[in-house]
Amino acid sequence: MKYDRIVVRYGELSTKGRNRKQFIKKLAHNVKRAIADFPEVKVFGERDRMYLLLNGADDQVILERLQPIFGIQSFSPAVRVPQDVEEMKRAGLELVRAMHQPGGSFKVNARRSDRSFELDTNGVNHELGGYILQNIDDLHVNVKTPDVKLLVEVRSEGVFLSCQTIQGAGGLPVSSSGRAMLMLSGGIDSPVAGYLAMKRGVEIEAVHFHSPPYTSERARQKAVDLAGKLAKYSGQVQMHVVPFTAIQEMIKKQIPEGFTMTVTRRLMLRVTDELRKRRECLAIVNGESLGQVASQTLESMLAINAVTTTPIIRPVVSMDKNEIIDIAQRIDTYEISVRPFEDCCTIFTPPSPKTRPKLEKVEHYESFVDFEAMVQEAVNMTETFSVDIADVNKVQDEFSDLF
Ligand code: ATP
Ligand code: MG
Repeated sequence: MKYDRIVVRYGELSTKGRNRKQFIKKLAHNVKRAIADFPEVKVFGERDRMYLLLNGADDQVILERLQPIFGIQSFSPAVRVPQDVEEMKRAGLELVRAMHQPGGSFKVNARRSDRSFELDTNGVNHELGGYILQNIDDLHVNVKTPDVKLLVEVRSEGVFLSCQTIQGAGGLPVSSSGRAMLMLSGGIDSPVAGYLAMKRGVEIEAVHFHSPPYTSERARQKAVDLAGKLAKYSGQVQMHVVPFTAIQEMIKKQIPEGFTMTVTRRLMLRVTDELRKRRECLAIVNGESLGQVASQTLESMLAINAVTTTPIIRPVVSMDKNEIIDIAQRIDTYEISVRPFEDCCTIFTPPSPKTRPKLEKVEHYESFVDFEAMVQEAVNMTETFSVDIADVNKVQDEFSDLF
């Protein structure tokens, strides 16, 4: 039997009372965008379930597309038949037969939201179970750990049957929690931070600092490719590439060596915050992780963070490097992050930056330069463009030619 629909079960959003409608709308929007090249598939976001009517589209491809979408707890390819016991038996038999391996077990798991149906759940289990058992050789019932579980849902609009429940990505629908600026380096941590923020419904715009000629076109491309991997979860990501050379040269010239790292971070944050204001985002996300490097001590964070009161979300702050790498591998950013290109911070980093920079000293050294004008200039010169999944596939093909 060919599946004619996919039933999508919502994640946490089912508990979100008042916002529920909004959440379902966002999720439906994200699902439609992910399958935009299948116009025949129709998406219906109902109160407690979403249905995708396949209208002949390849169910395997559509199932794959649903996998990374946040806000989905699980989903099942299914068929709908009328509320008719004979039709239910026929459809159930076909579904179990398609999944059955010789010697295997099964169980029918019925649910009924339409109380007016002639059979209760036990009745459905018995009728269908008995019929299927009679008609497939070498099959037995196992209620605890069946190989095949036939789900039957009797609802007023029809009876839904399915043999497969696939785990979804969890989280909340992207953009249901507002928009934030992600500080995206070419490293391992910041793309993971971006992914985790997106998982909680945050829509991301990426900011990348580059310092030509000290950093190359390839370093910049790395960040763009990482943004493309994140675009998988939201369809597209706005990318802002900030020219940072002038600021970095000024810091190198004017700021005592032990403080350059702190001042550099403060200026990155100021530029990001200015972009955030102009783009009307609500927060900043970065990949800082406690204790990894000199800029990631609590003392450093205090001195760096002092330039803004904007909420800064640090999704990987308390994770071990191994844990971060696991996620990076899972979301396919790791291979890009370890490409050996220079980073704009490392080039100017002194051999021994202060791990406990005093805020008064930092502010004192900065006061000799009109950094505010430089921040505005950098923001004005920022290049903004959109990265989507299709672009990135193209770029990666070009890259594979180069290596
Ligand atoms: P990552 O692996 O994300 O580069 P990291 O462990 O190398 O992190 P740092 O280089 O100290 O740590 O950077 C801390 C955070 O500052 C990064 O996670 C990122 O959010 C931000 N950041 C660093 N460099 C850049 C850059 N060139 N452009 C944008 N953001 C940056
Ligand atoms: Mg880095």
